[in-house]
Amino acid sequence: MNIFNYFLDSKCIICKKSSENRVCQSCIDKIDFFPKNLYFERTDFYFEKIFSLFPYNNIVSNLIHSYKFNDYRSLSKLFGSWLVEYFSETVENYDYILPVPLHVKKERVRGFNQTDLILKAAGWDKKIFKNIKKDIETKQQSLMKNSFDRVKNSENAFKISESAVELVKNHSFLIFDDITTTGATANEIAKHLYFCNASKIDLMVLSLA
Ligand SMILES: [Zn+2]
Repeated sequence: MNIFNYFLDSKCIICKKSSENRVCQSCIDKIDFFPKNLYFERTDFYFEKIFSLFPYNNIVSNLIHSYKFNDYRSLSKLFGSWLVEYFSETVENYDYILPVPLHVKKERVRGFNQTDLILKAAGWDKKIFKNIKKDIETKQQSLMKNSFDRVKNSENAFKISESAVELVKNHSFLIFDDITTTGATANEIAKHLYFCNASKIDLMVLSLA
């Protein structure tokens, strides 16, 4: 017997009932998924489509929050497996997937980039595009009062390296974020890709709030 088993927290993080997994099956069964390969269109942004795993609700919010802020990194495998199940055909249509970058200071504090880790868990390492950096520290988008504040908060927050401009040209991109509300953050990234002549820019998220 492994001595460390004594210290394992064997409760579901959602319902707190005893469970062998971080999230018990009965909580997973309560999560609503959008139908496979469904997407929403945005005509007013630099990206066109949004692919989302699930609509926003308490369970989803709790799950994503625990993953990011309580350092339940193992949940990346769960999210990754859902992305593979729902969007592996979609992902094949893109040259690159771009996980929304964190500011270097924030990534150091958190210890990981939550979107990057999920893409790796999904086995899509080879498609990950890392040549856009977060240049400015912004406040958490969920703390903003309205759409205008969200746009202002993320404005000019990202920077593309000069050497990456040619890499973007004529290539297709799927930006990946955990939650999107107004799409303001993804739109800031999409703007760079658009002006570097990317051939296609869409967004994939865990949850559309
Ligand atoms: Zn549960």
